[in-house]
Amino acid sequence: MTSHHHEICIRDYDPTVSFIDDKAIWEAINCAAEPTAEQVRAVLEKARQCEGLSIQDTAILLQTQDNTLIDEMFTVAREIKNIIYGNRIVLFAPLYVSNHCANSCSYCGFNADNHELKRKTLKQDEIRKEVEILEEMGHKRILAVYGEHPRNNVQAIVDSIQTMYSVKHGKSGEIRRINVNCAPMSTEDFKVLKTAAIGTYQCFQETYHQDTYEQVHLKGKKKDYLYRLYAMHRAMEAGIDDVGIGALFGLYDHRFELLAMLTHVQQLEKDCGVGPHTISFPRIEPAHGSQLSEKPPFEVDDECFKRIVAITRLAVPYTGLIMSTRESAELRKQLLELGVSQISAGSRTAPGGYQDSQNDQHDAEQFSLGDHRGMEEIIYELVTQSDSVPSFCTGCYRKGRTGDHFMGLAKQQFIGKFCQPNALITFKEYLNDYACEKTRAAGNELIERELAKMSPARARNVKTCLDKTDAGERDIYL
Ligand code: SAM
Ligand code: SF4
Repeated sequence: MTSHHHEICIRDYDPTVSFIDDKAIWEAINCAAEPTAEQVRAVLEKARQCEGLSIQDTAILLQTQDNTLIDEMFTVAREIKNIIYGNRIVLFAPLYVSNHCANSCSYCGFNADNHELKRKTLKQDEIRKEVEILEEMGHKRILAVYGEHPRNNVQAIVDSIQTMYSVKHGKSGEIRRINVNCAPMSTEDFKVLKTAAIGTYQCFQETYHQDTYEQVHLKGKKKDYLYRLYAMHRAMEAGIDDVGIGALFGLYDHRFELLAMLTHVQQLEKDCGVGPHTISFPRIEPAHGSQLSEKPPFEVDDECFKRIVAITRLAVPYTGLIMSTRESAELRKQLLELGVSQISAGSRTAPGGYQDSQNDQHDAEQFSLGDHRGMEEIIYELVTQSDSVPSFCTGCYRKGRTGDHFMGLAKQQFIGKFCQPNALITFKEYLNDYACEKTRAAGNELIERELAKMSPARARNVKTCLDKTDAGERDIYL
């Protein structure tokens, strides 16, 4: 694996002081309580420049009630998504390694007070088995997920990741990028985590509203709001320059959460010189053993959720947006158009859930899933209904295009030069090795259509790589 080292220069910061200023955020919300059509259109015009939006601009978009303006907003979000990301969509699968957890988050099925939950931490051979199944589906990217528990210490996490990378099963089975979603750690531990060659380190603040945060985190290390708030600063300090943030929608006012999340983006840019690589949008789903999850205090409906995604696309045009399997097929389709750039496919949220998928997993899973379709079905739908190119590309990370370096390239709109070709090549690999006849035919047609859109020189270049793939070569990337 090629590894390029980028120096990350962190400004002095004070981890004992929150950078989330409740008063300032509420002021921004109140100032834009009833935005005029002119105000909204002025912000949309600014968004079209693909240079992002301020907190004030974002507060304006968040509060328009006018359906015509909301439609215009969606149109601009689609434009930006198309300009910057094209019609690629990156696919990954979560791998729940352990549901042992010492914390008690009142929205999560893994909370330590849920005595009904069957606890499980996968052993290395069980991890291997899970990865084999994911490789058989054609997956190349994994999001490894862990509860916060002494069992899931950094060394255990590193060991599990090494196991995942070592599995080479079937035709071209291999995992080429592993992102990690686990509890925040000290800078020293993050340095150890980095040695496992992880992709993105992901950790969600859940709620940026400190009072609410303290009410829903009842025990364990996670109670410490500031320790979590500065997790990404420490990760960057440790040299992990791809980080993913998120808020769990449903705990507090979505307008506050979105503006606070943007404040987090700006703070990382200011202190670390680079913002987050991805933003995730979990919404609270019903979980066994969590009363709060049955009826979230600030439930976000589908229409509101679409606005949140579209506005984020406008506010941070170059940041990847991740949608989990938590959403239904129809909604995911709409969210893709509005700016989502990565989705999970064929997911299970219980440790061992892939091996055990015949059985009912309800006694060990984190929450119920909205989308139960398998990988192949999702791919077929993406190709035939959304005209999207499923991508298994892991090229940027392996060529060292990460962190500020990655953002630099993105900003020059270099993505088309690497990402679209790599998407087509990895998709071709998938079609040849894993797809059924029907999907392969539809996929190859899509590839032809995409080649026809490229400049002749680029199309020739990509065609050469596709031909090599057809001839049996694997893992080609630009
Ligand atoms: N234990 C680590 C932590 O809390 O950061 C990582 C694993 S935790 C299972 C990953 C994420 O799942 C949490 O950050 C939270 O946003 C999300 N989550 C928890 N309960 C949920 C629910 N009922 N519905 C949807 N997402 C949930
Ligand atoms: Fe544990 Fe994370 Fe679930 Fe909280 S969200 S109970 S820390 S697994």
